[in-house]
Amino acid sequence: MAQTYTLSLPAEDRERYLKKLLDTGLQRCPFELLENWINDPTQWPNMDYSDIYHYLVESPSLYTSETMKNKRSLEAHKFFVSGWVQAVLHIKTDKCFVFKSSVKPSWRVTNKPHNTWVAVENSGKVRAAHCDCMAGLGESCSHVGAVLYKLEASVRLGITTTVSTSIACQWNAVSTKKVEPSEIRSIDFGGRGRKVIGKVKRPIPKASASQQAQFLQMLHETGECPVVLSTFSKYAGSTPHHSWFETLTFTKEEADRVEAETITQAACKAWRRHRVGRITSSFAHTVLHTNQEKPSNTVIRTIMSEAKNINSPYLKWGRDNEKHALETYKYALGIGPATDQLSTNILVTEDVCKVHEGLRVDRSGFRISHERPYFGVSCDAYVSCDCCGKGVVEAKCPYKWAGQQSVSWTDDEKGHLSTLFSLKPNHVYYTQVQFTLQRQS
Ligand SMILES: [Zn+2]
Ligand SMILES: [Zn+2]
Repeated sequence: MAQTYTLSLPAEDRERYLKKLLDTGLQRCPFELLENWINDPTQWPNMDYSDIYHYLVESPSLYTSETMKNKRSLEAHKFFVSGWVQAVLHIKTDKCFVFKSSVKPSWRVTNKPHNTWVAVENSGKVRAAHCDCMAGLGESCSHVGAVLYKLEASVRLGITTTVSTSIACQWNAVSTKKVEPSEIRSIDFGGRGRKVIGKVKRPIPKASASQQAQFLQMLHETGECPVVLSTFSKYAGSTPHHSWFETLTFTKEEADRVEAETITQAACKAWRRHRVGRITSSFAHTVLHTNQEKPSNTVIRTIMSEAKNINSPYLKWGRDNEKHALETYKYALGIGPATDQLSTNILVTEDVCKVHEGLRVDRSGFRISHERPYFGVSCDAYVSCDCCGKGVVEAKCPYKWAGQQSVSWTDDEKGHLSTLFSLKPNHVYYTQVQFTLQRQS
């Protein structure tokens, strides 16, 4: 870091950065300055939440002329309370205090921390800030925010006015430990290296094995399954889980509203947002094929995170051709016009040839199951008529079959068709369609 940070900046950013240093009375970039830093929170100036708010949200930046309406920076509070801000050191210039610290970048505690400095006036007013993360040149990233929260907390908790510098330094030196997740039953709460704080005045008699067994049995018989039972192998497997998600409620009206809101599907944000945390029809096959006791992390991550727009040739082909497939479908049903985009290779089942009363094809959005709100489906369209009721339409445009005539489709061993008019029951498309039909019914 030393001596290279300023030089590493592109010319335009460097100029702005040097101007900022000058404005805070700094002779050198704090990242390059290695000596004279002081670790003593008792010398820090008073600052409160309004100073943070004013800097991060309200004040126009001197350097970018933009209002820093940076929501993420307010989330920086989480970084601070998680203990990701390392010890904060300071120096004084003729204009203000300059604080430097490093902030762990995320829950991945092994990642390299980001270096941050902030300049605060005696009054608590934040004059400038900087971080070497990508967002740092905007001067209001979450890391800057986290350091400000630490400064504010030190005032609020009385650390800056404590009589003992050593206590203040101890508070300043928080750091996160590397913690490995583990099942409760495998965690040793006794702890070999545990420090004994204070003296135990009265020895507590240890329960005998039979007393312990009797106590656990009593707890078990309450039927309330307290968490402590899961730490004893005898009860660990037998304690029934409260299926909290079985009690979730979602009304049909709410489901209708979400569907209307997501009618443009992948083109709207809401469609991606409502899918988060739900098992969807296109993913049902994978979910059914993962280990139910220990689901793979990838499966869980896919369910719990927002889908990104991926631009592979396969997906692009599918997206581009789906609308032609739907037009061809409507044309085959006799309710859509003939256009030059229609497929020239049309095969239809008997159902399609029949005459239907009030036949229509409608767009569909994301349909959340109101009985099981953790399930949601979206098909490509709905088909309905007065004589047969409602059905779902799923268009598939396999890239690998582009330009191939239908006679060769069933020859593909990995393909989804067992005959030209039926899906292979073990194929992902089969599960997808069944799941959609089930949830729509
Ligand atoms: Zn940053
Ligand atoms: Zn019909």
